[in-house]
Amino acid sequence: MSSLECRKTFLEVVPSSCWFPTVRRSKSCTALGDCLVETVADTRADDLLRRLACSFAWESDWPEGISSGSLGHPFLCKAPCIRAVHGTCMKGPRCEFCHLEHNHPKRKLRRQERQRLEEMPELLVLLILHWHIQRHVTNLRLEDDLQLVLAVLERRVKLLREARRPTHAELRWAMENLWTLRGFSLGRLFDAFQLWPQVDSDFKREVKFLVDSARKGMATPRAA
Ligand SMILES: [Zn+2]
Ligand SMILES: [Zn+2]
Repeated sequence: MSSLECRKTFLEVVPSSCWFPTVRRSKSCTALGDCLVETVADTRADDLLRRLACSFAWESDWPEGISSGSLGHPFLCKAPCIRAVHGTCMKGPRCEFCHLEHNHPKRKLRRQERQRLEEMPELLVLLILHWHIQRHVTNLRLEDDLQLVLAVLERRVKLLREARRPTHAELRWAMENLWTLRGFSLGRLFDAFQLWPQVDSDFKREVKFLVDSARKGMATPRAA
């Protein structure tokens, strides 16, 4: 006698001599027993790891709650981190934005103001930048921290002046736009400067290096 039997995904005609009750097939699953034995797990490795984790301490002299962007706070730090305000910044000390409190909302340049600065010759924007930086450095008594930055800025202005003397009209143009950068912190002045397309890129790199060094040298960020 033959019967129809479902084997895997096929229906197959099985001769009676091969026919056996389904119970018999289930008997072949002895391996399961071996798996169950495995659950009496060897926990030695886990115990060891747990002991190691308990005795491990992160050793860092990095002040708690600040990021790399907080260096130089509140004068020379980077723009505030929006995520840190909401407690969702996952970058921690590696974040390039400032994690400390900023009391004054940052002033944004209007599109026309930004365009006006970008249209000026390099010498004129550097004159404006130097005027603001010098003012902050004097007010905040940061002469020692930023003397190198000021020196390279003055050297660049001198070089450009010698290459082509600005006309009276150009100097008046710079004076009229002097206050465009009002309300900018030192850190933001240096950030804005990096975006000006007319400024020589090697000079930008040099200033960035010196400003970053000054920020690192300003040790623990000061309270706002
Ligand atoms: Zn800051
Ligand atoms: Zn952040």
